[in-house]
Amino acid sequence: MFPERYTSRFAPSPTGHLHLGSVFTALAGFLDARANQGLWQLRFDDLDTPRNVSGSINSILKTLEILGLHWDNAIDYQSQHIDEYHAILLDLMTQEKIYRCNCSRKDLSPIYTQTCRHKKIPAALPHSLRLKTDSRDIIFEDDLQGRQTQNLAEYGDFILKRKDNIIAYQFAVILDDMRQNVTHIVRGIDLLNETPKQIYLQQLLNLPTPHYLHIPILINSDGKKLSKTTLAAEVVLSKPNQVLFQLLDLLEQKPPCELKNMTVSEILEWAIQNWTISNLKMMKNIDCG
Ligand code: GLU
Repeated sequence: MFPERYTSRFAPSPTGHLHLGSVFTALAGFLDARANQGLWQLRFDDLDTPRNVSGSINSILKTLEILGLHWDNAIDYQSQHIDEYHAILLDLMTQEKIYRCNCSRKDLSPIYTQTCRHKKIPAALPHSLRLKTDSRDIIFEDDLQGRQTQNLAEYGDFILKRKDNIIAYQFAVILDDMRQNVTHIVRGIDLLNETPKQIYLQQLLNLPTPHYLHIPILINSDGKKLSKTTLAAEVVLSKPNQVLFQLLDLLEQKPPCELKNMTVSEILEWAIQNWTISNLKMMKNIDCG
């Protein structure tokens, strides 16, 4: 059963500094949690070790602190739970809900054709683990985007553990959210299409499905998501109050001009008190040049 209290999390991957796009999502999640007297926790999604960049955890913590985005509870690190993910994979294997696959990338069409489902690939060979899926509809109500219906067949038998032995995001995230008692997830709309897979996994493991709120994301002039790969600039932290003001403006929260020169905590206090989710509907994916 869910705890009564609104509980959420921000889950950056430690792959570099926090750029404006991630701070945008962090701020929306923080405000939604605080406006609901909820908890806002921090988790580092650090399983994809080849992508981790040393120094980024400290840099992310510093950015959050300077912007006044204080988290609750101890910081969680996925890498401290690797045995738990593997234990559940073992259970799923025993129940024949997942199977080994040794297809190479070049064999793969976008939707996996279940080549290895009945092959019983020996455990000694390098293999990924795939979940057996079917063609059921997954339906959920996004708190901003409304009702979503997607057929699981659009994804095929997706991967829970990669061939390089790294636990896949889809699988880790639902166990992480359970461990952190997460009731509400606020994240970028680029993850909307990942949600049905996560809901299916929750159903399979008898876990509750949290509320989801997918917000528009910041894009660059090529229409691409602001991310480390699009070389989004590091947030300029010498004037954190102006960064917050700009983000509140982008979040369509209509901050009054006089807020611009107030302190970080005054701005956040105003933003919590005036947080209006329905204003997010006015946002489009925003071009930040
Ligand atoms: N680590 C993921 C990301 O940075 C978080 C995804 C999520 O919020 O579920 O995209």
